[in-house]
Amino acid sequence: MSQKYNRVYNFSAGPAVLPVEVLESARDDMLNYHNSGMSVMEMSHRSKTYDEIIKTAEKDLRELMNIPDNYKVLFLQGGAHLQFSMVPINLLKNGVADYIVTGQWAKKAYVEAQKYGKINKIATSEDKTFSYIPDCSDLDISPDADYVYICENNTIYGTKFHTLPNTKGKILVSDMSSCFLSEPVDVTKYGLIFAGVQKNVGPAGVQIVIIREDLLNDNLPKWCPTMLSYKIHADNDSLYNTPPAYGIYICGLVFKWLKKLGGLEKMKEINEKKAKILYDFLDKSKLFKGTVEKNSRSLMNVPFVTGNDEMDKKFIEEAKNNGFVQLKGHRTVGGMRASIYNAMPIEGVVKLVEFMEKFEKENI
Ligand SMILES: *Cc1c(COP(=O)(O)O)cnc(C)c1O
Repeated sequence: MSQKYNRVYNFSAGPAVLPVEVLESARDDMLNYHNSGMSVMEMSHRSKTYDEIIKTAEKDLRELMNIPDNYKVLFLQGGAHLQFSMVPINLLKNGVADYIVTGQWAKKAYVEAQKYGKINKIATSEDKTFSYIPDCSDLDISPDADYVYICENNTIYGTKFHTLPNTKGKILVSDMSSCFLSEPVDVTKYGLIFAGVQKNVGPAGVQIVIIREDLLNDNLPKWCPTMLSYKIHADNDSLYNTPPAYGIYICGLVFKWLKKLGGLEKMKEINEKKAKILYDFLDKSKLFKGTVEKNSRSLMNVPFVTGNDEMDKKFIEEAKNNGFVQLKGHRTVGGMRASIYNAMPIEGVVKLVEFMEKFEKENI
């Protein structure tokens, strides 16, 4: 990370670190965006200049993820939490859906969906504090399920689906908030993908939804607010109402940054290299240990513990004093968690591991 700005190594799970180059571009554009005489914040979302910003963002995202033409890309608001409601409201036709519960976010989505239909929990890893991804190769999929739901990367517990569940022909819906754009994905395997951008892509307030066209539902229940209809947003190219305009602009800069870097194959390579440095250290450390089963490990969120609450506290405190911040684990699991999203440079992980080695020597 650029020493120029005196920035810390920020391991926050979200809102999280953004690429310095992106922040620099935003700074340079701040007062006068491309000779428009104003900042992007002050611009009409119906203006030609803004139209180009949002269209280019969509085009670049389509290129990065290789999104087929029969999928719509939507920029919405309301956080991932609103998707916990929008997904069942828009996708339930038979009124039945199957959920795989691998962590707190999946559980919240599962509970929320129950307001709208018969929602089955077809697999879970709650028996071992969500420290693994269950075998989903032959689940009891409901014959009339409208979709199967997963949270692909479990931000809090640090697990990731490395193999998608066998949905037996049912539509797959994925919450990709914390692994979005971290590696290539085959969009055609999904009916709907959503992601809150504040983990890996931009500032809080933007929600990206990628939805297969045939799932746009014209026949929503009468009580459904217009704003919760995917079809309304799709028909209006995400401009039904004022979109989170500045946030979308920053996402667009991140897409350009990713393209310049070499796309998602390259990003994956870097992310694997980065995560390996930390996991290799955890596997040999005498003080720290990872909390997740090896074959379920996330490339993005790495939880670890010392096994001693006082020692954890001491580590978090000393790390902070040395410029490694936001390493405290989620309040529901304790210990530590290093989120090493796309924008965390390899150098940040190398230095963290050096610091952990030193701490270990001093405290064992
Ligand atoms: C952070 C997160 C959420 C919640 O996002 P909000 O934008 O706060 O609603 C949901 N799912 C996953 C996987 C997350 O990481």
